[in-house]
Amino acid sequence: MPATRTGSSTWAQQCPLCGQSNGCAVAQGLPAAQCWCMSAEIDPQALERLAPAERGQRCICPACGRAQPDPGARPNRGD
Ligand SMILES: [Zn+2]
Repeated sequence: MPATRTGSSTWAQQCPLCGQSNGCAVAQGLPAAQCWCMSAEIDPQALERLAPAERGQRCICPACGRAQPDPGARPNRGD
């Protein structure tokens, strides 16, 4: 079956981890210096989760890229 390749620019603007907009300046045709990743610390573990083919090809979003503390405790709704 034919693979539709429409919206490649959208593809570049999607986070490969969560599918949300990655806010990548480069993907939007802006200078890389304007990308959020230039001023943010990227969690190396987030990059580990990327497929090798994706690494360096697509940007991840700030939510996935930032080092997040493990919540540890789940919210208890007290049924
Ligand atoms: Zn993401």
